[in-house]
Amino acid sequence: MRRKIKRVLIANRGEIALRIVRACKEMNIETIQVYSEADLNSIPVSFSDMAVCIGPPSPSQSYLNISQIMVAATLLGADAIHPGYGFLSENATFSTICSDYNIKFIGPSSVSLAKCANKATVRKFAVESNVPVLPGTEAPIKDVEEAIRIADNIGYPILLKAAMGGGGRGIRMVENKEQLKEYLPIVQRESFTSFGSDEIYIEKFLKNPRHIEVQIFGDGKGNVIHLGVRECSIQRKHQKIIEEAPTCGLSQNKEKELLESAVRLCKNLKYENAGTCEFIVDENEKFYFLEINTRIQVEHPITEETTGTDIVKMQLYVAENEELPIKQEQVHQKGWAMEFRIVAEDPYTYIPSAGKIEFVHFPSGRGIRIDSHIYSGYNMPSFYDSLLGKIIVKGDTRQECLSIAKRALEECTIEGVKTNIPLLLNVLKHPEFIAGRINTGFLEKYILPKKKIKE
Ligand code: ADP
Ligand code: ADP
Ligand code: MG
Repeated sequence: MRRKIKRVLIANRGEIALRIVRACKEMNIETIQVYSEADLNSIPVSFSDMAVCIGPPSPSQSYLNISQIMVAATLLGADAIHPGYGFLSENATFSTICSDYNIKFIGPSSVSLAKCANKATVRKFAVESNVPVLPGTEAPIKDVEEAIRIADNIGYPILLKAAMGGGGRGIRMVENKEQLKEYLPIVQRESFTSFGSDEIYIEKFLKNPRHIEVQIFGDGKGNVIHLGVRECSIQRKHQKIIEEAPTCGLSQNKEKELLESAVRLCKNLKYENAGTCEFIVDENEKFYFLEINTRIQVEHPITEETTGTDIVKMQLYVAENEELPIKQEQVHQKGWAMEFRIVAEDPYTYIPSAGKIEFVHFPSGRGIRIDSHIYSGYNMPSFYDSLLGKIIVKGDTRQECLSIAKRALEECTIEGVKTNIPLLLNVLKHPEFIAGRINTGFLEKYILPKKKIKE
């Protein structure tokens, strides 16, 4: 069924809201930007065609407030809602409510969302699709006795992971039985507070893997394509800060195997719209499925830069036509791209640094793309994510990318708040990073001060 999307409501904020406004403008689609009281003076609000305040700064009263968002959508005649990332983007109930109102949710069907939401049960689908997973549980654990039995079976260290978790939160390493007894109730409590669910599952801990993921697109009827791989091993607190596409961590054959695994899994799920299959990979190139992120990803630009696609426009196209705009044979990953997440925080203690951006000058010139919503005089609210923007660089080779990245980060000037730019530059200058020998333990091993940092 073809439905015309003429007006899209954007249920998000910050750089991703601006990214969506831009794609809609280029497609001649009108935008409705909903915003909280803290975001009145934001660029997505001023650049969109219409804007409606939906509540106070706290996310639960604004960007997570489904009834307020639906009131705005129906009163202003939205044909579709783009949820961005975070907030309601992976919420199956929200997607169902949208379809009850005959408003297209730009993302997977509520059935797909529900299948992928629980990170324990989605492992079962991976196993059924012949996609390798680490030893662990395919259902949330019932009690501490069961957890001990499973951990004894798998062997320590293990990870306790929040089944509904995301953004790197709700993950805890456990090295022995005593720790398991102590940490399980803590992780359950934290998970409940952050994600509204205390379901925890167990996964074998893999020491210093690479994180490699596959961008996929489905039409909801079983046709699925991939847009290549992304390497996201430079992480702090299990959250990515530098990503690159493609990766130097896989041989051609292994990369092909990984891509095929992701496509196979998503075909079995009859996956609709954009998604990401995340994997971790050991030093022998053995890969294990982690989870599917059922939304646009923060690091989508590096895929766009290496495949010549526009993922947000593709999302809108799939939502409108229920078919894929391109065939697998038309996808070629070319050149190299890197993304640097610029965040407002102390680079070494991770303490957030909200406040007024007194002055900002972003780098420009050949090979540079900036996705950011900040401007000189902008007040960075403290209620949300600390992302100030993303610097994306593109070169013919990884080496060229590295040289553009270095001068880009050196050109970048942000005054008024602390940023992680010094840390990013330290990574860029490190011989192991330059050589492409990276894994998720890189930052801790080579860049961060040796003292233990409190979570
Ligand atoms: P990506 O996987 O796209 O690289 P991140 O993991 O950095 O993205 O998350 C992007 C944003 O979405 C962050 O603000 C993060 O806190 C938020 N987020 C991701 N998953 C969840 C979730 N399950 N619940 C709440 N917020 C989430
Ligand atoms: P989230 O939903 O928060 O994104 P993920 O399951 O995707 O959580 O894991 C986030 C990161 O945590 C991974 O990229 C990796 O660095 C680390 N991680 C997750 N599971 C494991 C594991 N089993 N062994 C080692 N590291 C892991
Ligand atoms: Mg993840």
